[in-house]
Amino acid sequence: MREVLLAANWKMNTTPNEAQALVTQILPELSDITDIEVLLCPPFISTLVVADLLKGTPIRLGAQNCYYEDKGAFTGEISPAMIAEACQYVILGHSERRTLFGESSHIVNLKIKAALKHNLKPILCIGESLDENENARTEEVLTTQLTQSLADISSTDVSNMVIAYEPIWAIGTGRAASGEQANATIGMIRQTLSGTFGVPTALTTRILYGGSANSSNITEFVSQLEIDGALVGGAALKADEFVNMIKHTIAVKANEV
Ligand code: PEP
Repeated sequence: MREVLLAANWKMNTTPNEAQALVTQILPELSDITDIEVLLCPPFISTLVVADLLKGTPIRLGAQNCYYEDKGAFTGEISPAMIAEACQYVILGHSERRTLFGESSHIVNLKIKAALKHNLKPILCIGESLDENENARTEEVLTTQLTQSLADISSTDVSNMVIAYEPIWAIGTGRAASGEQANATIGMIRQTLSGTFGVPTALTTRILYGGSANSSNITEFVSQLEIDGALVGGAALKADEFVNMIKHTIAVKANEV
């Protein structure tokens, strides 16, 4: 049984004061969440302020990126060792990192290995562009990203990771994939995992959907067999919206029992 995860990627939004205000709005609604895992990934500068607010709650904390060295002369970077003192998760290979900051799957692979060394759970993002989707290249693109990003990583480590399928054409566009579409693609990703890492790993690894998920469509995603939750951008910046997504998800899971 894979535990459902709703992960909030705040991207480069919220000052520390705004981050504090957002968490303060969300928290009272979530004191009794059970059965699903909720994760907040604020900007680095707000990590410690949010960590303090989350103490004693079941809500997890993550970072949006990290470097692959532990320390040294890497001005402006932050290491997994630093993140691991406050966070449980780190998002790696987000399409914005890949397209805007030139991160290749090879770099993502180094980052995943570094994060795992510090017992951080990497959330590996993969996704195809609109052009690749329209030219029937989705499977090829995702398989390449997956294979290169997970090179030389053990099956056990992969089972402890999370993969987020985020079609680039759906991110921040208001044009989400349909539940069925996302389910089929995530099923294909699971097949690929099973070919490389074996069936038990493929069945254990959580795979999320990401791309314009919100409180109106979350039920459609989390009701699907292959989809283990969502990585949420814009909708996670509105307290009501994110809380409603969590409530809808809990309701779906309660009905499945
Ligand atoms: C994201 O960037 O990870 C994301 C899913 O964004 P949005 O929900 O805004 O499409």
